[in-house]
Order: sequence, then C-alpha cells, then structure tokens
Amino acid sequence: MNNKQTNNLKALLNFDKESIWHPYTSMSSPLPSYLVKDANGVHINLASGESLIDGMSSWWSVLHGYNHPTLNKALTEQASKVSHVMFGGLTHEPAITLCEKLIELTPNNLDKVFLSDSGSVAVEVAIKMALQYQHAKCHQTNADVTKTKLLTVRKGYHGDTFAAMSVCDPVTGMHQIFEKVLFKNIFAPAPNVAFDEPWDEQETHELESLFKQYHNEIAAFIIEPIVQGTGGMRFYHPNYLKKCRELCSQYDVLLIADEIATGFGRTGKLFACEWAGISPDIMCLGKTLTGGYITLAATLCSEHIANTISQGEAGCFMHGPTFMANPLACSVAVASIKLLLDNNWREQVSFIEQQFSEKLIPLAKNERVKATRVLGSIGAVECNQSVNVANIQKRFVELGVWIRPFGNLIYIIPPLIIKADEIDKLINAIATVLKEDNCFNGEND
Ligand code: PMP
Repeated sequence: MNNKQTNNLKALLNFDKESIWHPYTSMSSPLPSYLVKDANGVHINLASGESLIDGMSSWWSVLHGYNHPTLNKALTEQASKVSHVMFGGLTHEPAITLCEKLIELTPNNLDKVFLSDSGSVAVEVAIKMALQYQHAKCHQTNADVTKTKLLTVRKGYHGDTFAAMSVCDPVTGMHQIFEKVLFKNIFAPAPNVAFDEPWDEQETHELESLFKQYHNEIAAFIIEPIVQGTGGMRFYHPNYLKKCRELCSQYDVLLIADEIATGFGRTGKLFACEWAGISPDIMCLGKTLTGGYITLAATLCSEHIANTISQGEAGCFMHGPTFMANPLACSVAVASIKLLLDNNWREQVSFIEQQFSEKLIPLAKNERVKATRVLGSIGAVECNQSVNVANIQKRFVELGVWIRPFGNLIYIIPPLIIKADEIDKLINAIATVLKEDNCFNGEND
C-alpha cells in the first residue's frame, strides 16, 4: 500500500470506530474492526492486504463461499426484474418457489410458511404464532386464556429482540438489565447428556415436572435442536429432543424448533430435528437460508396452527413486515438451496466432520483446553480460560485465518466448499494461539 492508500484506510477505520456501532462491543472503547476489500470462495480479503481463510461462515450463514457465480447470477437476474415489492396483496415466483421447497424439505407437518427479515424476527413470529394460536383456541370455546408463557431450557439463545431475549439463557442472556420489561418465562435445566454419551433416563425428570406443574400456563416450548450454539456449542442427546416432543404432545404445548443455526445440513442432517426423528409444530429458519447473501428468515407451522389462528378473533395472523418475502432474498435462497442439494452436501459435511475429528479433536491434549467437540461442520475448542478477543483476533489475522471466538470458546464452522489444506490452516492457527498466554484472560474466567 502507498501512503495515500494507508491514509485513506486509516480515515475509514477512524470514522468506523468513532461513529458506527459494531455488535457486542463498546462504543467508547471498541474492539478493533478490520476493513474488508472483497471476499471470494473461502477467502476474506482485507483492505490492508491480508487474505484470510474464513472459519466462521460469517456467523454460520455463508454456505457455498463468497462471490459465488450461481448466487450472483440469481441476484442480478432478479434485480433486473423486481428487487422489491410489497407482499400485501401482491405475490411473486421467487417467494412461491422458495416456500414450495421449504415445505418439501422440512419435516412432514410443516405446511405453511411466514417469511420475515432475520432470525430474531422469525423467533418473534414463532412466539406470536404460539400465543395467538392458544388465544384462538380459547376463543372457540369461550374459555379463559391461561397459556401465555413459554417454557425453554437454560443455555439457549434465540436472538436479541425482546420476546427472543426472554427465552435466552437467564444468566448470559441480558436478563438482569431488562428484567423489569421481559416476559417472565419458565426455564428447565440445560440438556446435559452429550450427543454421543449413553442416554440417562434421569436427564428429563426436571423437565417433566415443569411440564406437569405449569402446562396450563405454557403456550409453547422453544429449543435449539441438538446444538445449543451461543450457549457454548453444546451438542446434546437426540433422546432429549424426542422426550420434548412427547411432553409437548402430552400436555398440549406447541413445540418450536429454532433451526436458525442448525438448518441446511450444518449438523450432518438437513435439519437437526431429524437426529431425533421428530416434527416440531413450528420451525424457525434463517442464517444459511440465502447462502449468507442477504438477510431472510422463515417460520413454518402446521396447517392446524394456521387454521386455528385464522378462525380466531382476529381472523388472521397479526404480522406483516415491510420487506416480507423480498424477491432478491427469495431468489438467492432458491438458488442456494438448489446448490446445496446438487452439490451433495452430505459428502461435503462428512468430509469436514472427518477432517475435524482427525485434526481438531486432538487439540484436547493441550493443557489450556477443557474439551473439544465436533458435529457435522461444527468444530469447537472449549478452553479453561476466556479469550482476550482483541489479542486472539489480531493473532488469527496474522496467521491468515478469520476465527472469532467468544467467552472460552474457539469454534469453527467454515463454508462447505473448504478444502483439506485450508482446514489445516484453520486448525494449525488454533493450535498456535493455544500456546500464547496473551490470547487468554486469567485462569477459569
Ligand atoms: N436463533 C439462533 C439459534 C441463533 O443462533 C441466532 C443468531 N445467532 C438467532 C436465533 C438470531 O438470528 P439473527 O441474528 O439473524 O437475528
């Protein structure tokens, strides 16, 4: 870079630092941000010249890599037809094709689709659907509406908007700050038996008692199927999810599966619910839905829920975002799903899983590491200490990779097109930083 370019870069970053919020960092003393020039395949290229192998898929969203010709084509062709049009009273082929595909691919009873803008909104929509469903049911028989709460498990994460926050883990999920305004929901212990551990019947006893005690107050039970992501990359036993399904059916509680992070193959099944062979009543999708190109989310529900809501007092579901079913987003989602199915995603995911099992799992031998875990294309290294985000990030950039840890977790979830030598580079970079004290905070933070 010449002097002019260096000064220009500094000016841009300075404005960014002074005036733009970044997620989960202070505005007065922010963590550094790196200026991206462009991105291609699994590479994120910085304006300062470094080319980084992406280990994050931009928070689980970029499935087929950046700047993908097929996805670019879908987007530009759609832009030349219609980029946006309101969904009230109008419809279009990209939305119709996408919803047909979602109904075909998701578990059997999910027949109706509501499209929205982001994962958190998809969760808001799911919760509102559950509450409106219970309201409509009582309206039919003139009964009092008592089912107005949600049941969930600790260590969950469902988004940053208010209803979503109210079902996030009560300790790490910002409940203290917003205590006075959040819905008061009911929390069961986090699932404890790991994905590949022997099943223990005791595991769901407390959950069962909560269902028994509170079912008259509970509209829905919400859970991330199989993987509690933000809560610590915890992979839990499929029997737990099976039991959740049984209890929901037994106590007339709707089951909401938040597949926003796990959907579209990430865990080794197209949807994580398939590990337990269950169908939820409501399912939320987001993140990878457009292959990471544009924000879009979907909430699917059963015909029974849709019909009950439609026969209720309001006669319709009370939601309608401005950018609902944006045609650009829908057309790129259709193209991304087609790529996923055509590219043999099972092979791609099992290749990543096998590479991670061989190379990431042995990092458990390092004394700084508490545990390593792999499921599908997700690899996690849980450390004994929390990371120093600014320092570890800087080192990862120097080592030519983009990995953004949080708390005491270093995890990778790369685009499915990643190759063996690129995986090596990600894992070698993790092995290197594990040896560096300044990348970590004090003992057991
Ligand atoms: N649910 C889960 C399981 C998630 O992982 C996330 C995002 N990390 C959300 C909901 C919220 O999605 P968004 O960030 O698109 O609002």
